[in-house]
Amino acid sequence: MISFLDLKQINLRHEAEMMEAIQKFIHSGWYVLGEGVKQFEAEFAQYCGTKHCIGVANGLDALALIIKAYDIGEGDEVIVPSNTYIASILSVSMNGATPVLVEPDLHTYNIDPALIEDKITSKTKAIMVVHLYGQLCDMDAINGLAKKYNLKVIEDCAQSHGAKYSGNRAGNLGDAAAFSFYPGKNLGALGDAGAITTNDDSLAQRLFALRNYGSHKKYENIFKGVNSRLDEMQASILSVKLKYLDEDNMKRRQIADYFMNNIDNPLIIKPTTTDEQESHVWHLFVVRTANRDDLQKYLMDNGIQTLIHYPIPPHKQEAYKEWSEMEFHISEKIHNEVISLPISPVMDMEDVRKVVEVINRYGE
Ligand SMILES: *Cc1c(COP(=O)(O)O)cnc(C)c1O
Repeated sequence: MISFLDLKQINLRHEAEMMEAIQKFIHSGWYVLGEGVKQFEAEFAQYCGTKHCIGVANGLDALALIIKAYDIGEGDEVIVPSNTYIASILSVSMNGATPVLVEPDLHTYNIDPALIEDKITSKTKAIMVVHLYGQLCDMDAINGLAKKYNLKVIEDCAQSHGAKYSGNRAGNLGDAAAFSFYPGKNLGALGDAGAITTNDDSLAQRLFALRNYGSHKKYENIFKGVNSRLDEMQASILSVKLKYLDEDNMKRRQIADYFMNNIDNPLIIKPTTTDEQESHVWHLFVVRTANRDDLQKYLMDNGIQTLIHYPIPPHKQEAYKEWSEMEFHISEKIHNEVISLPISPVMDMEDVRKVVEVINRYGE
């Protein structure tokens, strides 16, 4: 069986180093917001090329705290892609603001900049972009619109750790960015973890307080904050794994290249990428096909595990039943047709070749 993502193997590569980090953590005697968090924040800010990194509890909190720190709430609107994981949209609702959905481009699956302008109103405060499946959005177009209408650009980088555009990394392509280090992400902890990156000094200072009960100094609360601190032990694990992120992304790229060059079946639509190689870090390798469930069953029968990202579009979720009458044809088409093939830094080339062979025989 070729598994979709072998998390155990991914982490076992670093077992010795992580054990050492955990031991150091235990012996430090300081278990919340200590040196480990500070160190990872410094390393990750440097990696992304931003002035600041604020460690938080998870990716959803990272997004929600950015919106809170910008004072976006009741009566405000935030543009979000209609084709994304639910967290992007929830982060807006959680703050009492209104998510305004915009359709993606059918080929890149990312928000279509050409459709954004029509949705901007006097209430719009920000555009949230999601670099879906690991591929960066068209940031020149989006930043141009944001400048024209004086909007903030918030990046959801939960799937795009390390992706690069004109030399700048994901997390440094807008005003503020949210990362998730959920175990299955390209940079994954051994539990929940997240971070925010930004070059905005005053936003960073607010965020350092907001994540910790609205306090810079113990027992002095300047904001109505939350408890969303990056766990000290997860931070020490992340410092170990960050060193291998570029190498891991390179391995994902090699597999993706092989898929791109060798999958050759008229029933399968491969991903569309730009010329800028490193602008995609292949968190997922997603193809489309007319009869997706049939393909998934065929692959499973041939020992290949796949997943669907995602089966139900946000506007069709019960949680957002107020949107159930809305129509987003491109998102619906994508949700009906996508299937994610196995890809990971520990997948061996023999398995990669087998996936291609089996896929190319599909429909014969
Ligand atoms: C994983 C993910 C999140 C949420 O991250 P958590 O750490 O699970 O809260 C947000 N947005 C996208 C696009 C994601 O893939």
